[in-house]
Amino acid sequence: MPRRITSALILASTLGLNACNESPGTSESPAGTIIVSSTRTATASPDVEWALHGLNGAETRFSPLTDINNDNVERLGLDWYFDYPTHRGLEATPLVVDGVIYTTGAWSMVFAHDARSGELLWFYDPEVPREWAVHLCCDAVNRGVAYRDDKLFFGTLDGRLIALEASNGSVLWSKQTTDKSRPYSITGAPRIVGDKVVIGNGGSEFGVRGFVSAYSLADGEQMWRFYTVPGNPEEGFESPAMARAAKTWDGGEWWEIGGGGTVWDSMAYDPELNLLYIGVGNGAPWNQQIRSPDGGDNLFLSSIVALNPDDGSYVWHYQTTPGESWDYTATQHLILTELDIAGQQRKVIMQAPKNGFFYVLDRVTGELLSAEPYAAVTWASHVDMETGRPVEKPAARYKGAMSGLQLPGPIGGHNWHPMSYNPNTGLVYIPKQDVPWVFATEADFRYRKGYWNTGTDNRVASLPDDPAIRDAVLGAVKGSIVAWDPVAGAPRWEVEHAGPWNGGMLSTAGNLLFQGNAEGELVAYGAEDGERLWAFDAQTGIVAPPVTYRIDGEQYIAVVAGWGGALALVGGEALTAGPKPNRSRLLVFRMGGDKSLPKIAPERLVFDPPVLEGSPDQIEDGKRLYLTYCVFCHGDAAVGGGVIPDLRTLNTEGHQQWDGIVLGGLHWQNGMVGFADELSGEQSRNIQHYVIERAHRALAQTGQGAEQHDSDE
Ligand code: CA
Repeated sequence: MPRRITSALILASTLGLNACNESPGTSESPAGTIIVSSTRTATASPDVEWALHGLNGAETRFSPLTDINNDNVERLGLDWYFDYPTHRGLEATPLVVDGVIYTTGAWSMVFAHDARSGELLWFYDPEVPREWAVHLCCDAVNRGVAYRDDKLFFGTLDGRLIALEASNGSVLWSKQTTDKSRPYSITGAPRIVGDKVVIGNGGSEFGVRGFVSAYSLADGEQMWRFYTVPGNPEEGFESPAMARAAKTWDGGEWWEIGGGGTVWDSMAYDPELNLLYIGVGNGAPWNQQIRSPDGGDNLFLSSIVALNPDDGSYVWHYQTTPGESWDYTATQHLILTELDIAGQQRKVIMQAPKNGFFYVLDRVTGELLSAEPYAAVTWASHVDMETGRPVEKPAARYKGAMSGLQLPGPIGGHNWHPMSYNPNTGLVYIPKQDVPWVFATEADFRYRKGYWNTGTDNRVASLPDDPAIRDAVLGAVKGSIVAWDPVAGAPRWEVEHAGPWNGGMLSTAGNLLFQGNAEGELVAYGAEDGERLWAFDAQTGIVAPPVTYRIDGEQYIAVVAGWGGALALVGGEALTAGPKPNRSRLLVFRMGGDKSLPKIAPERLVFDPPVLEGSPDQIEDGKRLYLTYCVFCHGDAAVGGGVIPDLRTLNTEGHQQWDGIVLGGLHWQNGMVGFADELSGEQSRNIQHYVIERAHRALAQTGQGAEQHDSDE
């Protein structure tokens, strides 16, 4: 039974955390007090709760529950909600075990709620140093915990793997899984295989070498580690797989920057075959001409790799993007099922990686069964089924010239947002997007240790001011649900969204499909035809995947709402749903639920910049520096995405602190460290000139202020 946690009370007070749900029987608690209930049920069974990241080992995110279905979903309503004390992106899949819902929030915090009432039972803050944010490509996010035998396991942004007692959140063990002298981070959920917990990491954009490791559930002892890319050949290889991989890296000193290949999100485990599948990320740097200038496939970048989970040894691999040069990770959601292909029942693994092709592989052998484009693809004409390799278009490798407007861009035709495979409809639902990009080699590239190192010139990718080009680029930006038939290798239908970066998917045997979106809704669709059946205004963009569970005969739908993640930060005007402020909440729905969210006042962006004094040369230099150091958190062309304050709204008083913030790190507690070791005073000033110029441009376009896209008018 849960008990009252003194440390949680202190932390709650520190964070201003309130048990602010409105469910019956839960009184609004005084600040700093958490009422811990004793209402856990011990009767729940695994098939109606949500105990594994992907619901089941096959990671289908298809629930057999039918109480909520396409005939009655219109009566679905909010049952309770809980406000979290942070304002960064929420990407977690909550787990529901024995009547308790466990989820993670920003900065790797863990929360446990009574899954019926929403009461906060305990929470745990690993106190990630906020200055580590300078090493995060994609917001201070976490995608969830793993559960086994009354223990929870989760990773932290600074590379720890922590085991907690599920009943009260106390720490059982904590391991540093990464070299802290390198800019590693963990955002993905661990997976449990036998007596081990497996975790990868991220950081390729900043320069790391990817690996995945297994630790003993009991005490956190490291059991094995599989590197995904070779280190310096002169130092020898950790495994035969690395000796083999090194033969595919030609020229260069990739090990100085790290080579990349981080396993930052998806894994799947087949207990019958005893194979662990991992999705491997992009190269570090992206640009192969710098990383491995004489070419080669650069194994195991952008690959699905099958490992023996007993010892972490290599079994087979399939590389989706040989010689990766575009951030085309294969870390995307991996789903296991059986499909009838050409009259034969095959055990398959399916993935829609960033590169735009949907892959079906035989998961026993790694044989390619099909690869068809699920998104707009301009970099390759097709995947050759004889060789298993994509047939690239000549301009794609940006050798000596720009790539032209390329699709997919680095954000991918599909990113981390989980898909769902519904065996009743035979469809895989893909949160698909088209976000173009222009690639060019960064002239005079030098390795900036700990900072962004992609070897690409972001100026050519920044949205141009020329209205004709802007409109053409923005016209190519799209987002949708693609209902993909993996046997036919073709879409069956598609639901268009206003723009990209929409939430993960859930489908159910109630013939329903749930997804949150960038515009701030949670929507239910018919699973067979995509008909829109129900929607809820969540007041903030949703990127996380919904889950469902049943307790005491009542089915619930839950989702963490809270706009954020990579494109929410960097997107600028590509975010066609507009800047929607992050409001971080756990939302839980049931039939007849009648709660509502508090009304919100529309927020306005007010532009009141100081006088523009920078010369065109200074502004241009500032733009170059902004697009090197600032863009990945503060947004393309200094247009904020609603997560981090829009720099264009900085007024004269704010600008007086500029050097203190940019060089001195005044706002380090928010993750904004000082850049004095990288930028001179003159460079800091030039970035300031650029931001002021952007603010004047916004002022001229919008007058006194642009209304944000809040639904509450
Ligand atoms: Ca990447």
